[in-house]
Amino acid sequence: MKIKVGGKSFEAGRVFCIGRNYAAHAKELKNDIPVEPVIFCKPPTSLVSHLQKEIPFPAFGGELHHEVEIVALIGKAGKPESETDALNYIAGLTAGLDLTMRDVQDDLRKKGLPWEKSKAFDFSAPVGEFISFAPEQKLDDLRFSCAVNGVLRQSGNTRDMLFSIPRLIMEISRYWKLLPGDLIFTGTPEGVGPLLRGDCVEVSLAGHKWIWTIQN
Ligand code: ZN
Repeated sequence: MKIKVGGKSFEAGRVFCIGRNYAAHAKELKNDIPVEPVIFCKPPTSLVSHLQKEIPFPAFGGELHHEVEIVALIGKAGKPESETDALNYIAGLTAGLDLTMRDVQDDLRKKGLPWEKSKAFDFSAPVGEFISFAPEQKLDDLRFSCAVNGVLRQSGNTRDMLFSIPRLIMEISRYWKLLPGDLIFTGTPEGVGPLLRGDCVEVSLAGHKWIWTIQN
């Protein structure tokens, strides 16, 4: 998937996702509050552009859940030296959905198995259009939300994150050298819930909105 932002073009690469970054959401899924970020990945084939209007309902499992998240686009290669330096690596921000087959995930978790089948399937990561980011912009009071068929389901603010976006970038770069086109899904607030065939799901970030329909 090509991403254009701030006059530059990126080929979307790895998709890093953060689990349990909002205390109230960790609680609703009966998880402990993590002492360091939970990180997992989705392949680039999970991405859905804001230009694609429909998302297919997966052909396995039964309980498709929305998780609205702020998504950061990495704009340059390297390993940041500090949280302040990490801001120089962000090229853009948007809102997206970390779509999850919750019944499949519950089953995998019970067995102590990796989550990929429930999280990293095709079309499991729709993202809005990226808004360009400058290092002097504030990240600690960004609002984002998710509505289904016009009804608000999730409402989040980055001030409630357990680990800030710069901290997440530092943490990811301990294990992976950052590359331009990398995306980071920064975790979901409470209020996750089911999406049914035909539902219209809308995500928003700071006044911008993007809409997809779950295919019948
Ligand atoms: Zn998530």
